[in-house]
Amino acid sequence: MRQTTDALIIRENNNIGEADRFVTALTRDFGVVRASARGARNIKSRNASATQLLSYSRLTLYRGREKYIIDDVEPIRIFFELRSDIEKLALSQYFCELAGVLAPREEPAEDFLRLMLNALHFLGNGKRDPRQIKAVAELRMLALAGFMPDLLACAGCGAFEGEEMWFSAREGLLLCSRCRASRPGIGLTPMPGNVLAAMRHIVYSSFESCFSFTMSDEGLALLMRQTESFLLSQLNRGFKTLDFYHSLSPGMADRGGNSVAAEQKSPPAGS
Ligand SMILES: [Zn+2]
Repeated sequence: MRQTTDALIIRENNNIGEADRFVTALTRDFGVVRASARGARNIKSRNASATQLLSYSRLTLYRGREKYIIDDVEPIRIFFELRSDIEKLALSQYFCELAGVLAPREEPAEDFLRLMLNALHFLGNGKRDPRQIKAVAELRMLALAGFMPDLLACAGCGAFEGEEMWFSAREGLLLCSRCRASRPGIGLTPMPGNVLAAMRHIVYSSFESCFSFTMSDEGLALLMRQTESFLLSQLNRGFKTLDFYHSLSPGMADRGGNSVAAEQKSPPAGS
């Protein structure tokens, strides 16, 4: 069956010795699919880049018994601007790896696709701090995938705001300082008011405004640490692309990370 859908290429698999060239695409209608790009009629000079990483393209796919084959491809928007900036490229690759893990398969994934396109657009235009875009991409993607933190109020007494709030990245919940003692051993870290406000905005605001908020430099550093630790804790795994992002500059790791692979200085293969 021949079907057309819009898709962002989130991974290129150029395995040496393999006859087929595979890509992984986040599609509007079928979620994450792995497709062979070899047979595409129009993958010639003009459209060659339409099946490269960070290309948003209209794909015409044949559904084979076990895999998809790209029959035709037409570029819609290619994020060239992200390829020339190593920090932005690293973050883009991390978002792509996240989408590959969190977005559904064989199901529509329009929300994931829109979120990814907006994140890449804002990363490219340079009007927002990359750390802010990272926090939104992480939290909104987690929420879409069913890992929604409860940021409404203290899980113990329902207090909306206290003098001090604490967050458990493992449980995805808030506790006020009075209720804190009642839940020992759930890994609480302080949740400053501005970070809580930003996380509430990211999770509960409409899609159109989720990237739009302002924060101090210090606040962004804390926000980035909080969303990343929530993500790693919920998914219980690491990401090569995230390690690479943190390896780019020790300063960047200080600003946010807790997952650093300093020895790795080239982008993770195949990501
Ligand atoms: Zn409480």
